[in-house]
Amino acid sequence: MTPYPIEVDLHLHTTHSDGTLTPKELVNLCSARGLKVIAITDHDSTEGLPEAMQAAARVQNLEIIPGIELSTDLNGQEVHILGYFINHCDPELQRILNELRDGRINRARIIVDKLSEIGVHISWDRVQELSGGGAIGRPHIAQAIVEAKYVEYPKDAFNQYLGRGQPAYIGRSKLTPQSAIRLLIERGAFPVMAHPTFTLSETDRPNLSKIQPVVNELCRVGLVGMEVHYKDYTSKQIQALADISYEAGLIPFGGTDYHASGNPGEPEPGYIGPPMKTVHRLKALRDHAK
Ligand code: AMP
Ligand code: ZN
Ligand code: FE
Ligand code: FE
Repeated sequence: MTPYPIEVDLHLHTTHSDGTLTPKELVNLCSARGLKVIAITDHDSTEGLPEAMQAAARVQNLEIIPGIELSTDLNGQEVHILGYFINHCDPELQRILNELRDGRINRARIIVDKLSEIGVHISWDRVQELSGGGAIGRPHIAQAIVEAKYVEYPKDAFNQYLGRGQPAYIGRSKLTPQSAIRLLIERGAFPVMAHPTFTLSETDRPNLSKIQPVVNELCRVGLVGMEVHYKDYTSKQIQALADISYEAGLIPFGGTDYHASGNPGEPEPGYIGPPMKTVHRLKALRDHAK
């Protein structure tokens, strides 16, 4: 049990990427769960922020930190970089995000073709419909596979078809984490490493100190924090990551990475999150940079 009430969730997705709640629905849920500060961190999109901010203005005592999540690749390992206090009114940022979202469309089309080659037939129109015009991702394809009754849950679609190493896995010409960090810093945002365990192979995951070289490299280019209080991490994982984060001088972040995905047992907002002190430290960085 966390030794503090959960008031903060700094990792949440909406319909503007691969979440299934609209920004307004998500804000209302977080408010009902008693959260005080949340960050909307859609993949390659800030389009949900205006609606989330409007909705937060209507409920009381809920603050929105504008955020984003960028997918990157480091020597074949997946690294996601969160950016906080991103300025969604920045036209250059929007140009870059549009390019990243176009890359997602091309890749999703190739995945749908590849699935068809191995006998999993889903319609591209349905995948697009599920994406609702937001940043399209593998979870939309997973949902279409569930609907077509090839598997029961989206996670099964990842395990059998879409995950790294599975037959319909396609990488994307992505940023490196270093370039994502530099991009976020240039645009005035604060970069944080998301779910550090995802970056390790299954065999390396029990030994979290294996993440150290990547953390050191990302610190060198300006990382300010890493996720520690994340989703379904065990207290042992949290402790190990808290130690790595502390040693590296990073702020410990976290949240549920809630997608309302339909997977059983998905941790919901209010289940886990960083302490309020994380928000204070992030704001101190922002105020210092002004
Ligand atoms: P994409 O952005 O298209 O590469 O898809 C990445 C998203 O897929 C992540 O943010 C998760 O929401 C989801 N995802 C990745 N791996 C899995 C998995 N094994 N099971 C369920 N969802 C996953
Ligand atoms: Zn996602
Ligand atoms: Fe992620
Ligand atoms: Fe995420």
